[in-house]
Formats: sequence, structure tokens, C-alpha cells
Amino acid sequence: MARQGRTHAQTRQTSSQRRLAAAVAGLRGTVQFDALLKDYTSFRIGGLADVLVEPVDVEDVARLVRQVRAQRLPLFVVGGTNLLIRDKGIRGVVVSLGKLRTIKEEPDAVLYAEGGVGMPTLIGYAIRHSLAGLEWAAGIPGTVAGCVVMNAGTRLGEMKDSVKAVRLVTMQGEIVDLPASKIPFAYRRATLPPGIVVGVWLQLKAGVRAEIEKVVKDYLHYRRDTQPLTLPSAGCVFKNPPKDSAGRVIDAAGLKGAQVGDAQVSEKHANFIVNQGQASAKDVLALIRKVRAAVTRKTGVKLELELKVVGQA
Ligand SMILES: Cc1cc2nc3c(=O)[nH]c(=O)nc-3n(C[C@H](O)[C@H](O)[C@H](O)COP(=O)(O)OP(=O)(O)OC[C@H]3O[C@@H](n4cnc5c(N)ncnc54)[C@H](O)[C@@H]3O)c2cc1C
Repeated sequence: MARQGRTHAQTRQTSSQRRLAAAVAGLRGTVQFDALLKDYTSFRIGGLADVLVEPVDVEDVARLVRQVRAQRLPLFVVGGTNLLIRDKGIRGVVVSLGKLRTIKEEPDAVLYAEGGVGMPTLIGYAIRHSLAGLEWAAGIPGTVAGCVVMNAGTRLGEMKDSVKAVRLVTMQGEIVDLPASKIPFAYRRATLPPGIVVGVWLQLKAGVRAEIEKVVKDYLHYRRDTQPLTLPSAGCVFKNPPKDSAGRVIDAAGLKGAQVGDAQVSEKHANFIVNQGQASAKDVLALIRKVRAAVTRKTGVKLELELKVVGQA
């Protein structure tokens, strides 16, 4: 009996490996089985992906999506800077757009950026081309696609102010362009059809290089003074409650410096949890529960997560 059971389990495992292999067959990008996801997150936390793919271009993304769908496997896109990936990682196929990094200037101060372009790179490009309109995003480390999906923002502006249109690979593997007017944006959320954002058109305006650069530099200084940028984190953990700031209520509840394992509520900015070295997702989640409970008890506010928690515990 024992032998039969083992054989059955082995057969099942082989079949899931076969489906994973079929999902990534013939792609031109890189394919890595059992990829360590902590290497792909700003938090430096996260278990293994069954397989991690970095497609080389939009057609490669479309092919991947069609094959993943044919194999009925889950698909997850990782930019990596607003994520807490649980310790047992992510089953199925994880996609990183790290190779989709082209930026093109189009007429009338429009920039087209492929989905994997990092916001800091995009802002650098805008400065060099004297294009204003992205200064609000200085210091946001995510990809331009992740920033659209999250409607990333700061007190100076948010993604919806700049997006003109989005190129998406749908779950059927079709490439479609959506004007911003068809995308409902809300606080830290854009409602898009299921799929992968592979490109973004941004409407900027002609500006004076030195002035754009000054606003960006000043904002980066402000961030450096107020945020714990030397330790791994995923940015703000909670959304701001209406007419208040999550950092303020967490601080008011006396939680700066609170710690579980190597996860710590930053002493510098209470809405950041930092990884002091070896923090696990379990540590971070325990700390999140502790913060939420204490804030509700002391201030009555129920904090909502901005951080996306994904993967298996
Ligand atoms: C130091 C620091 C400072 C930060 N400051 C800010 C800030 O000021 N304002 C702010 O809003 N955020 C901030 N963030 C958080 C983060 O950078 C943003 O939320 C950003 O939008 C996330 O982009 P990402 O590419 O890393 O996406 P991820 O965090 O990897 O993903 C976020 C969600 O989008 C999905 N997604 C990602 N890429 C795609 C894609 N191509 N197609 C479809 N879905 C996709 C993911 O599956 C996930 O559900 C900060 C983070 C850090 C570490």
C-alpha cells in the first residue's frame, strides 16, 4: 500500500511539472524553476515560485498567457515593491516584466513606457527630455505597470493624473489598448480587465529641465528625511484612513519600534514595516495583526492594507 501511495503522489507531481513545462515551452525569455521570490521583492521576503518567467517582449507575454491558460495554471505578475509574498511562495507561473524596459517619446509630450520600466528610470528620462508631470512620483520604486494597477500616489499627485492609455495582454492572450477614460481609478486601485499591463502612455507637458529636476530632488530629500529608505520594506503598509494618516494613528497608538522577529514598525515612519535582516512573511503578518488590534483599541480606526499579501503560508 505504502508503495502504491508513493507512486501515486509521484505521478501527480510529474503531471503538475509537465503542465508547468508546457506553460513555458517555446518562450524566448528566461524561465527559472523554483525561483526564490525574495530576490524579486523590495521587502527581501518570499518563498519559491514554481516557475518565474521574464518574457522578452509583448508577443512573448501573450504567448505565455495563452499557454498558462491552456494548462489551467494560476498566473501572477510581480513588480515587487508593494508585495508581501508568503513564506511558501507562489504556485503556478509568476511573471516579471524586467525585460520590457523600452521608453519612447511620442509627439505632444507623450511618453510610451513598457510595463517593466521602473518609475525612477522613467522620471530620469522625463527630466532629460524636459517633460514635466511625473515629479509627484519621485522616490516610488515600482514598475510603471504596477504603479498604474495600484494607482500609486503621493501627496503631490497620483498615477491617474498622468495616464493617457494602457496596453494590456488579456487572459485570452490578446493585446488591447485601453484609453484612461475607460479605466476607473480610485485610491490606490485601478479597475482593469484581468490581464498583464505591458505598456503605458503618459501625457506629460513641456517644461524647464532645471525646474523639473529641482522638484524631484526636493521631494527625494523629503522622502530620505521622513522614510526608512536604507532598510528593505514594501513602502506604506496601510491605506490612509479618511481625513487622517495611517502613520499618525499608528504612532499615536505607541507602536513605533514594535517588533515581531526581524519585522519592525519603523522608528522613522510608523506606516512602514522594515525587515531588519531575516524577517519572514509570518513575522510581518503577526506584526500587522498586532498594529491593527492596538490601533483599533486605542483610536477606534480600522486600518485597511495597502500592501498586497500573496502566496502560500
Ligand atoms: C521605499 C518605498 C516607497 C514607496 N512609496 C510609495 C508611494 O509614495 N506611493 C505609492 O503609491 N506607493 C509607494 N510604494 C509602493 C509601490 O512602489 C507601489 O505600490 C507600486 O505601484 C507597486 O509597483 P510594483 O511594480 O512593484 O508592483 P507590485 O507591488 O509587484 O504589484 C502590485 C499589484 O499590481 C499587480 N501588478 C504588478 N505589475 C502588473 C502588471 N504588469 N500587470 C498587471 N498587474 C500587475 C501585482 O500582481 C499586484 O497585485 C513604495 C514602496 C517602497 C518600497
